[in-house]
Amino acid sequence: MNERHPLDLRRCEDCGAWWALRPYACAACGGTNLQWARAGGEGEVIAHSTVHRAPDADWRARAPYELVLVRLREGAVLMGHAAPGVAIGHDVQAREFTHGGRTLLCFEARRPP
Ligand SMILES: [Zn+2]
Repeated sequence: MNERHPLDLRRCEDCGAWWALRPYACAACGGTNLQWARAGGEGEVIAHSTVHRAPDADWRARAPYELVLVRLREGAVLMGHAAPGVAIGHDVQAREFTHGGRTLLCFEARRPP
């Protein structure tokens, strides 16, 4: 299976809305002309969680670690890891890192709110 870059999202060619999941149709306008496009990775943190109990031994070694939901400039909401100190309301930028052969996102603060 070809794995896409985590910033490759679905964009509605009819109204311009972006979607982090892979909907059949655009929830904004109902259009079905959705194409792949790469988001810029800038956004605002809207939720934050610290993971103390990791899902497997690999992640347990890194716990506790931070996860965030980020509303990207494009409008879609993505989940990713967060650098220490990142909090709700922070303006962030995604950077890539590799874990277990997969490309993942870590959001770093651009400036405090
Ligand atoms: Zn649309």
